[in-house]
Amino acid sequence: MSLAVGLVGLGAIARAQHLPAIAETEGVHLAAIASRNATLPDLPSYPDLRTMLDAEPEIGAVSLCTPPQGRFDQAMAVLRAGRHLMLEKPPGMTLSEVEALRETAAKAGLTIFATWHSREAAAVEAARQWLAGLEISAIHIDWREDVRKWHPGQEWIWQPGGLGVFDPGINALSILTRVLRQPVRLTAAALSIPQGRQTPIAADLEMCAGETPISAAFDWRETGDELWRITLQTDRGAATLDKGGAEFSTDGEVIATGENREYANLYARMRDLVRAGQSDLDLAPMRLVADAFINARFAITEPFDA
Ligand code: NAP
Repeated sequence: MSLAVGLVGLGAIARAQHLPAIAETEGVHLAAIASRNATLPDLPSYPDLRTMLDAEPEIGAVSLCTPPQGRFDQAMAVLRAGRHLMLEKPPGMTLSEVEALRETAAKAGLTIFATWHSREAAAVEAARQWLAGLEISAIHIDWREDVRKWHPGQEWIWQPGGLGVFDPGINALSILTRVLRQPVRLTAAALSIPQGRQTPIAADLEMCAGETPISAAFDWRETGDELWRITLQTDRGAATLDKGGAEFSTDGEVIATGENREYANLYARMRDLVRAGQSDLDLAPMRLVADAFINARFAITEPFDA
């Protein structure tokens, strides 16, 4: 039977990725929308989640595409209504609230799926397999993009819990923690916060995985093309996972690439998790971000005007 999905928060990512992905995924269908300021033609649209849950008992799963702030109350309402739960990244505002969701879902026998869309990028699995068993001597991450281009009008990214430049940077960390076999540990962080804002516009991280040093530079002040790249030095030569995980090359030669099926893969996985009665809630990327905020040296930089 097809899984009826209710989607909450009809914003940028819901329109660009979730709607087409649900439409093309066999075994799931969009049953209703809950959004305060947006509706879809030919589909039940409600102003808020609770109204949708009350009115649509056949909805089996709810996909939360709202900002992380305020997601906890919505997520709890979903689970308390006995529906399965799919979360945009990051899965919450704090680690402790996500742990509470994990426990509530487990007690209720419901699926909870914390999605990391970049892990589904076309070349990530090829990179993971290529790296298996290799000695990696160093890793560097460059994750730079123009915040004005990618987050126009989004105030929540600058508010506590909005993560600032870690909103894209956590995508890099989600890939890193997928392709490496060893756990990643943060050792130092430097965050640049524009005067008058609450979250960083740039972050430099030092991490390690076993003996392998890892550096990362996240920056929202890029004005040219975006750069979403992970470079690895190994005993079989240099390797690059580029374009947000869509392209993997070794010694300059592309060995894996493909079309963008990130969100279609996520909905197929959600369907399969529900059918199998399982959950998937890996907090490794979010833990690194939390560690950075706990341990960072903070610098106040020039004000940022959107
Ligand atoms: P967005 O464009 O701001 O859309 C979020 C939607 O959620 C809004 O349109 C709004 O719709 C609703 N909402 C509910 N409470 C809100 C609040 N307090 N403040 C603002 N909006 C609120 O954000 P987005 O870019 O789609 O991001 C949503 C989530 O997806 C974030 O966790 C983000 O990290 C993740 N994500 C985004 C992208 C991307 O490229 N944009 C990519 C991957 C993942 P109503 O006003 O109609 O309720």
